[in-house]
Amino acid sequence: MILFKDKENLKLDNQVSMKPEYLSHPYISGNKYRKLKYNLIEAKKTGKQVLLSFGGAYSNHIAAVASAGKEFGFKTIGVIRGEELRSQIANNPTLRFAETCGMTFKFVSRSVYRNKSDDAFIEQLKAEFGEVYILPEGGTNQLAIKGCEEILNISDQAFDYICCPVGTGGTMAGLINSSGKHQKILGFPALKGDFLQEEISKFATSKNWQLILDYHFGGYAKIDDELVAFMNDFKSRYNIQLDPVYTGKMMFGIYDLIAKGYFPVKAKILAIHTGGLQGIAGMNQKLKQQNRPQIV
Ligand SMILES: *Cc1c(COP(=O)(O)O)cnc(C)c1O
Repeated sequence: MILFKDKENLKLDNQVSMKPEYLSHPYISGNKYRKLKYNLIEAKKTGKQVLLSFGGAYSNHIAAVASAGKEFGFKTIGVIRGEELRSQIANNPTLRFAETCGMTFKFVSRSVYRNKSDDAFIEQLKAEFGEVYILPEGGTNQLAIKGCEEILNISDQAFDYICCPVGTGGTMAGLINSSGKHQKILGFPALKGDFLQEEISKFATSKNWQLILDYHFGGYAKIDDELVAFMNDFKSRYNIQLDPVYTGKMMFGIYDLIAKGYFPVKAKILAIHTGGLQGIAGMNQKLKQQNRPQIV
């Protein structure tokens, strides 16, 4: 765990620590490792040899599933959003990595992809690929949350606030379920929309949590130059790389809240670095095309 004090705000003396989940596995990035763990055990137990999941062009989850398949002896199938990507694998760092791990792709249009959790579509995939173990987009299910409940340990009880980025909300639900009553879990959604409140309520066993909705930067995978500058500055100060989709936005949010005096004096804040660093290469490609500053 890396500890630093926020020197610019000595008056508040908020103390920010980071739990480096991104170090939990070199390729099965951060929280995705936690989310896969019990699913992989279940897949083995039920004799499934193929994992099938869903994701976009730069999905951390797709990269994690492909890597886990390679490491633990499963075939993997990725249902990927966007038919145009079929001809772009070589230029896409995430898909290239997944393919290197042995993943087979099924590229579908955006409208077909929207059916990703419909029974009829799932049945169709089973007919096409046989006995597959299906992981939902983003990997969130009950077993994933069980895995995320293992992120916090007993020494983390010392913190007043636990912060995490939010995509589907599974990671946050796991943190909530393993937190102490005296703690507050703050989730920083990486996307717009108020459906997350309900999603997390479905899985969360207590009410000591809140979503901070102001730091999505325009939506999922949308970023601006200010965020990139913040991430690069953070890296030069602490030698910790942040990812542009999730952890960058969360840390920006935490620092902004500290500057605004959101946290009480001497609050001890734990930020969960959930990984996602494989996404930097893809984001930098886009930034380069647009002639904008890149992530270092
Ligand atoms: C997937 C992901 C998240 C979001 O996790 P959810 O459980 O879907 O909310 C956060 N951070 C990183 C780096 C991720 O890859």
